[in-house]
Amino acid sequence: MGAVTNVVYLIASVLFILGLKKLGSPKTARQGNVYSMLGMLLAIVITLLDQRIVDFTYIIAGLLVGSVIGAIAAKKVEMTQMPQMVALFNGFGGIASTFVAYSEFVTKLSENLPVGGTDVVVSLVLSLLIGTVTFTGSMIAFLKLQGWMPGRPIVFKGQVAFNGLLLAGTFVLGWMFGMDTMNGQTFLLVIIAIAAVLGVTSVIPIGGADMPVVISLLNSYSGLAAAATGFVLSNNVLIISGALVGASGIILTQIMCVAMNRSLANVLFAAVGTDSGSGASGGGEQRNVTRYTADDAAMIFENSESVIIVPGYGLAVAQAQHVMNELMQLLEKRGINVRFAIHPVAGRMPGHMNVLLAEANVSYDKLVEMDAINDDFQSTDVALVVGANDVINPAARYKKDSPLYGMPILNVDQAQRVMIIKRSLATGFAGEDNELFYDDNTMMLFGDAKKMLTDIVKILKDE
Ligand code: NDP
Repeated sequence: MGAVTNVVYLIASVLFILGLKKLGSPKTARQGNVYSMLGMLLAIVITLLDQRIVDFTYIIAGLLVGSVIGAIAAKKVEMTQMPQMVALFNGFGGIASTFVAYSEFVTKLSENLPVGGTDVVVSLVLSLLIGTVTFTGSMIAFLKLQGWMPGRPIVFKGQVAFNGLLLAGTFVLGWMFGMDTMNGQTFLLVIIAIAAVLGVTSVIPIGGADMPVVISLLNSYSGLAAAATGFVLSNNVLIISGALVGASGIILTQIMCVAMNRSLANVLFAAVGTDSGSGASGGGEQRNVTRYTADDAAMIFENSESVIIVPGYGLAVAQAQHVMNELMQLLEKRGINVRFAIHPVAGRMPGHMNVLLAEANVSYDKLVEMDAINDDFQSTDVALVVGANDVINPAARYKKDSPLYGMPILNVDQAQRVMIIKRSLATGFAGEDNELFYDDNTMMLFGDAKKMLTDIVKILKDE
């Protein structure tokens, strides 16, 4: 590999790192994306120019097909479906690493070349193992998020031991492959098959509110698989970019674990919420709740000094972010102090609410993280909950068999009044009923978030 290539790879890597740094703040995130894209473009172009490519036909065909699918998906997929899309991306990243590493092995085999030293053998086995686990694990995550298979944890007796056995089996097979690499193709194929099963059995017991952790963990795996493949190919930029994805994915996983107040081991092995028997049934509907109207809400706002808005997944579904911003401005014009409380797992992807509200030009300094705002609810007149449910569900505080148990929630119940805009009494993502809906302090405003907010805005404007 030429010196020029390595210098360009280095520049690309610096761009990736700068890009990641800039993604750390909503203000610079767009710039961060541009840096990273530029880095990737450089890496791809120099790789295509440098390598001894015999035939460009498949490469161009692959680029075309991939670009068309990517462009259509980017246009068509709703923001609320992003987690599914990310799950697919992670999975395809993983399987690509498996394919590339395996084809490198087959190429060397057909040319009667040695596979390489211990480092290459270990990297090859890890690449196949992690790449394939990422693929099947991500497919399960996709099916769960898409609602095509039950979202709750699926467990069977001895699952942890079974997974441990599968993992140990791949290590033994990897060692056997290393003993005689020229005749070890079958070992590699069996490793791939076992890894495929392991991906499924290690993701099915995770579910409910723990899905954000799984998504970021699989993201990290896809990076590790790419880095391992980088070692197989001796490709520096693949090693660096894979390591960056692996590391940032694991940091995000840690952040998500803290947000859920769980250790990673607890998320992976405890199958929290298996026995709750709850489902998206809207199961409290027999109890009485009083329906309030947009007029009632407007009147309460008129008499308030401070409002904290809690956005959730429903805000994204309703695409009500723009009218949400309009309401905020109307309230501020009346001298009311308005802020947004952002729960780390609100919505369906990390940072979902920040992105959604940024799209509507809500100023970043209005968005306050959970830990910074949670104590302020007790001195707040109105907590306005728009399409959020799990992130305000008090069951997280005391109901031990709940999938939400232990997750810190936004303390909306401490506000003078809680207004909740949603369409029904149905449960949120974790399938847990919410007793807050029946509280004397709570005003349920039933309806689509966009429609209800639009009605409130209209009334406030007319006054
Ligand atoms: P939830 O999923 O708990 O609740 C959303 C609520 O929005 C529903 O109860 C629904 O009630 C309501 N809703 C849906 N559509 C509309 C609409 N058009 N107008 C008004 N309301 C609507 O959302 P939260 O944000 O509170 O919590 C996020 C959950 O998702 C957590 O459990 C989290 O673990 C999980 N998750 C988060 C990820 C992340 O990375 N952030 C990734 C994957 C999962 P109704 O049907 O009655 O209207």
